[in-house]
Amino acid sequence: MDFDQAYTMTIGGKAIAGTETFDVLNPATEQVVASAPDATREDLDAAVAAARDAFPGWSATPIDERRALIDRLGDALLADIEGFKRLLTAEQGKSHDDAAYEVGGAGMWLKGAATLQLPVTVNEDSAERYSETRHVPLGVVGAIAPWNYPLVLAMFKVGPALLAGNTMVLKPSPFTPLSTLKFGELAATILPPGVLNVVSGGDRLGPWLTEHPGIDKVSFTGSTETGRRVMRSASATLKRVTLELGGNDPAIVLADVDVEQVAEKLFWAAFTNNGQVCIATKRMYVHEDVYEPLKEALVAYARTVKVGDGSEQGNRLGPINNRPQYERVLDLVRDARENGYDFLIGGEDSDVPGYFVPVTIIDNPPEDSRIVQEEQFGPVLPLIRFSDIDDVVARANASDYGLGASVWGKDENAAWAIAERIASGTVWVNEAQHLTPLAAFGGMKQSGIGVENGVEGLLEYTTAQTITRRR
Ligand code: NAD
Repeated sequence: MDFDQAYTMTIGGKAIAGTETFDVLNPATEQVVASAPDATREDLDAAVAAARDAFPGWSATPIDERRALIDRLGDALLADIEGFKRLLTAEQGKSHDDAAYEVGGAGMWLKGAATLQLPVTVNEDSAERYSETRHVPLGVVGAIAPWNYPLVLAMFKVGPALLAGNTMVLKPSPFTPLSTLKFGELAATILPPGVLNVVSGGDRLGPWLTEHPGIDKVSFTGSTETGRRVMRSASATLKRVTLELGGNDPAIVLADVDVEQVAEKLFWAAFTNNGQVCIATKRMYVHEDVYEPLKEALVAYARTVKVGDGSEQGNRLGPINNRPQYERVLDLVRDARENGYDFLIGGEDSDVPGYFVPVTIIDNPPEDSRIVQEEQFGPVLPLIRFSDIDDVVARANASDYGLGASVWGKDENAAWAIAERIASGTVWVNEAQHLTPLAAFGGMKQSGIGVENGVEGLLEYTTAQTITRRR
């Protein structure tokens, strides 16, 4: 890949510069990294038309050929981790190590999705009749990705949608379009023209995409608020939707944990990618027996974690990705300060350029405080004391969100029994944030509709068709 070349959209296999552009900022410096094409309605129409034209040929291609191409695309990403990593750090802010991990994950995600099998159900095989239900592609998928993990979250969609025989128009977030545009260029060297189109643009492009009559399904990852808009807009032509939305993941830390052993893991459950993870631990309930020692261990570990420009060696956490999110996180910190909550670490304002927020841990704020009730999506964690299991389960479940949760304890069976009582799409015991291309992942309640990954995720890119033959 040539990372020095201008950024272009990929439409019908061709590089399209577009007639308008917008600037992409480096969140560590607030300097322009590059400009990206700002797709017009005509550009989007061209991308949808290219995807529609490619659909008959691609869906008729034997699935094993599609599988092989997706696998190759995964290899191509893995072969260029170095180049993608630098670009991802520049536009997203995460450290080079985390960016390399994401690019590697994106490659592995495609390769993992490429191994999935579409099931066929034989309903009847009798003297009178043979009947089977198979799963056929939907057509053109409009895929919309957020800015926290721009590449890997796009791959959650690309692999299964294409494997199932759909074609796609992929739209990255305006805050992080560059690595996805380069991925589109890479894909154009491997996939037939029009199978994967990438368009970038500002705030007008998402609504155009979700209301476009040439799109059959919208696969969306982003906030719950935008998810509602997507669903409303998709209803006009009854588009299928998969919505991966926000969360306010609880971690429940039981009395029997080994504090020294879990402190670092709990820290990263909350602070990986600066807390900008849909499945980050966003409220940590700690049993009163271990509250004090765990609090100290978390703070001691937090002091060892360097925050700064992700392109500089040694910085583990970078800035918040963009100004609106930075303001949201600062507002929550301000609210905690004004309410007089105790800060165990962090909470101070930064006076350097870039959207930096220090690692911040708040000591036992009330259950109804904003920092406990809202999705912070930043490096600010409330630690909350509990004493009763039924009470903490009720508090964990008292949320409109239900994305992820974790339970931590030495007695695995006891922890598992609690996990079964949590209303979240995923619950981890003694770990957090682990996902795989082979297991269904999605939200309960207002954290989403449908799932990604696994066979269940693959099936979301299909519709069931039953064919019956009378003998
Ligand atoms: P966002 O909702 O602001 O934007 C997501 C995407 O939607 C972007 O590409 C954006 O340009 C586009 N968009 C904005 N308005 C649109 C509209 N009206 N119609 C169609 N598209 C529109 O979310 P974000 O700030 O980029 O991401 C952070 C949020 O995403 C958090 O709430 C986080 O929890 C959630 N998230 C969820 C998952 C998951 O898998 N469940 C994963 C990552 C992030």
